[in-house]
Amino acid sequence: MASSKGAADRSDAFDAVVVGAGFAGMYMLHKLRELGLTARVYEAGTGVGGTWYWNRYPGARVDVESLEYSYQFSEDLQQQWEWSERYATQPELLRYANHVAERFDLKRDIQLNTRVQAARFDEATGRWHVTTDNGNASSRFFILASGCLSSTNVPDFKGLGGFKGSWYHTGGWPHDGVDFTGKRVAVIGTGSSAIQSIPMIARQAKHLFVFQRTATYSVPAHNGPVDPVALARVKANYRDFRERNAKTGYGFILDANEASALSVSDEERRAVYESRWARGGLGFYGSFGDFLSDKAANDTAADFIRQKIRSTVRDPVVAELLCPRTVVGCKRLCVDTGYYETYNRPNVTLVDVSKTPIDRITATGLRVGERDYEVDAIVFATGFDAMTGSVMKIDIRGNQGLRLADKWAAGPKNYLGLGVAGFPNMFLIAGPGSPSVLTNMLPSIEQHVRWIGDCIATMQARQAQRIEPVEAAEETWVSHVNELAAASLFPSCNSWYLGANVPGKPRVFMPYSGGFATYIEKCNEVASRGYEGFALS
Ligand code: FAD
Ligand code: NAP
Repeated sequence: MASSKGAADRSDAFDAVVVGAGFAGMYMLHKLRELGLTARVYEAGTGVGGTWYWNRYPGARVDVESLEYSYQFSEDLQQQWEWSERYATQPELLRYANHVAERFDLKRDIQLNTRVQAARFDEATGRWHVTTDNGNASSRFFILASGCLSSTNVPDFKGLGGFKGSWYHTGGWPHDGVDFTGKRVAVIGTGSSAIQSIPMIARQAKHLFVFQRTATYSVPAHNGPVDPVALARVKANYRDFRERNAKTGYGFILDANEASALSVSDEERRAVYESRWARGGLGFYGSFGDFLSDKAANDTAADFIRQKIRSTVRDPVVAELLCPRTVVGCKRLCVDTGYYETYNRPNVTLVDVSKTPIDRITATGLRVGERDYEVDAIVFATGFDAMTGSVMKIDIRGNQGLRLADKWAAGPKNYLGLGVAGFPNMFLIAGPGSPSVLTNMLPSIEQHVRWIGDCIATMQARQAQRIEPVEAAEETWVSHVNELAAASLFPSCNSWYLGANVPGKPRVFMPYSGGFATYIEKCNEVASRGYEGFALS
């Protein structure tokens, strides 16, 4: 495919426009260049790295070990980059993102500080017209690498505008950090971002109030330096390590135990949980095969974690409040360093807002029922308008002016999570309908980018101009994604997977829960059958 420049303003015509310069957008750009295409990446931030550019809150780090949460497309890169800890911190991840951008000379095609506002497909020319707050462009392909956890959610609390202190969202943290020394601080939320930041903030703050609406399960990270023996073993055959990881349900190796939790004795079950707990991290998901499909099996894991909480937190009333009552894993399991222990500190107060919600923000703090909590700073660890938020903020119009926002009004609809009927030559990376957030996301992202690259290469070979899913294939996929979710325990609690955290958002389980390996097979099958379910013209 020759470069399709030639419109009135040559500099603004590309083969592809990519939204976002996180790990997905960066690798997509590299792949497009390998195919000999011209591309422009637009990024709202002033630097690359996406999640790791925005989420600079204290304690931010990965919950998947860095040897697995890293790019695999370049053998030299994975051999030469040295991770300092099992779970890299945000600054290290951001250094990594910048290193990749420089190593592969990506920055010259990334326009920073630019937000894509609209994209319209012109059926006559077969081109996308992309509008940004800093110039416009046209392209044949329009690729959304805009992130499934990049649109922050600040609940609409009354009175926030009149608050005299400072407030922050974990997903938009100031670049020069925040010093909470001597301050009274409120953290709203107890999801992963809160669980990572609370122990750090508690060490600095004069007093920390944690406002908890729903208690969350967390397993210890047992973080530390990367074990040199394990590192040498992986580096000796990184390819094999990555292949094993792609054959798992979650995109990382967790030595899944396929036995039912109900098929073993109480002692054996406890021993399994204890050993997973001692190892630390998300490997806890692999304890038993029916962990996420059988409520009675899941209850055994829930009981185990509750016992751990009770044996860690000294005040029994606080411990009981911290004990979750939901299904373990129906929200992404958190991985912490000293989270529950933090509640033994005299300067930390847990405020239960499950029955009496935060009523309003006052000039000097928060009001819950009759009680005022005076604080100098508020941290919103209140999550994201996940999976669809960043896409829906762009006014995207496909064939005959069809608005994506209208098409998705009752929940996202797409085929394989990759393409949307009615929106030719538009691709999504790691969005709804794909395993995405239920997996180690870097391999998920790379698998999508490779698939999109192969698809475009096939179009080049066949001199095809357009590709889009056919409605019937899309409908079948959406039903399949829903059926898988309905057969699992995922929909049993109010999670962002379901859009339940954003008022008015349709309640639809968005990610594909059939497992990473199965999903890869399906994608490969579709491609090998000549992009079955897609119309190529
Ligand atoms: P992002 O990194 O979110 O990048 C998307 C980029 O698009 C952003 O920089 C954004 O500014 C830009 N953008 C969006 N809309 C526009 C627009 N209209 N115009 C221009 N630019 C736009 N996953 C894991 O697998 N393991 C983890 O340990 C893990 N930890 C996480 C920790 C945090 C705090 C968060 C929030 C998420 C975490 N995730 C984790 C998920 C994480 O989002 C992915 O791993 C991965 O970084 C996503 O990369 P991405 O490029 O798809 O999206
Ligand atoms: P989150 O999981 O959505 O947690 C948001 C928290 O805010 C929840 O406890 C929620 O309570 C609470 N909340 C929201 N609105 C509220 C309100 N009006 N009043 C009181 N409480 C309110 O968001 P997150 O912690 O940012 O994590 C999002 C995802 O990002 C994670 O699931 C994970 O995938 C990823 N992440 C990963 C890591 C990591 O360990 N590497 C770190 C951070 C984030 P309810 O539960 O009641 O809604």
